[in-house]
Amino acid sequence: MKPLLSYESIQSVLKDTSPGTTEALAQEAAALTRQYFGRTMSLYAPIYLSNHCSSFCTYCGFNNRQKIKRIKLSLTEIQNEMRQVSQTGIENILLLTGESYAMTPISYLQDAVEAARGHFTGISLEVHPMETDEYRALYRQGVDGITVYQETYNRKRYQEVHLGGKKKNYDYRLGTPERAARAGMRSISLGILLGLGDTAEDLLALFQHLRSLEKNYPAVEYSLSFPRLRQIKGQGLAPQTIDDIAFTKIICLARIFFPRVGINLSTREPPRLRDHLIECGVTRMSAGSKTSVGGYTLADPSAQDPQFDIQDNRSVDDILKMLKQRDFDPVFTDWRPIPNI
Ligand code: SF4
Repeated sequence: MKPLLSYESIQSVLKDTSPGTTEALAQEAAALTRQYFGRTMSLYAPIYLSNHCSSFCTYCGFNNRQKIKRIKLSLTEIQNEMRQVSQTGIENILLLTGESYAMTPISYLQDAVEAARGHFTGISLEVHPMETDEYRALYRQGVDGITVYQETYNRKRYQEVHLGGKKKNYDYRLGTPERAARAGMRSISLGILLGLGDTAEDLLALFQHLRSLEKNYPAVEYSLSFPRLRQIKGQGLAPQTIDDIAFTKIICLARIFFPRVGINLSTREPPRLRDHLIECGVTRMSAGSKTSVGGYTLADPSAQDPQFDIQDNRSVDDILKMLKQRDFDPVFTDWRPIPNI
């Protein structure tokens, strides 16, 4: 079955509750994934550098109204985190911060990237959106990839949940992947926060956004992520529930429409589902993750609130074992750093 890239077609797949539909999608997605990626699975881990944020996104535990302990790692603490993570064998690192231009300026990020070069072969950032020349400076420093999610493509919904700070600016965020591509970034990851808006509408817009980027910047390696909205402490947002079957269908649709694009899956999903989805389209998964600042080495990371709760607490070794049992080749790196010019 090959659904059309239209709202009606995506909506009808998501609404179809017959087991046969999900099974047919899963089989097609699995065949395409094996055709283009074999039985390989790239591994990465996140390191949270800071939870300071000047934006107010109603769905996020780091927003500037939340009464949480704010932490920003020193360079020594960053190095300790990196040493700890690299000892697990992880080579691809995703460095994250809240979106505070004042607390985590580009100079701070450059120091962190410089430290990361000593431990990892692939360095990506999920931080506040920037201008092309700033991305260029980070690229020259050794950053390979940028992760930036539009969250929802529906402008009205976007304004309802982004109430303060620079993230309020829909168009600036929308143009971020293009600015990163112009700066020369090797990989760019896009995504939507499932449950925030109308799923079919957001999926269609995400896919159209990706198609346009592929057309204009064909040298970039793109990937997609589909985090599901979770309730955060002290906040009354009533998320739409995306159940596991709908979530599986979304991964399958992404694979069917984009056979060669990477699909990421974080530890915010539970082990059984993660193990299942690696068969249907996922090509990159995080392992042994901590989602609080200094979560790998600080004395009491449980004293702070993570950005989201982890549901898959397995270690990198546990994930390796699972992958091998399922006849997957885990890939720590397929890359050796070269000077980014
Ligand atoms: S989603 Fe990002 S910008 Fe929004 S509150 Fe959370 S950390 Fe800040």
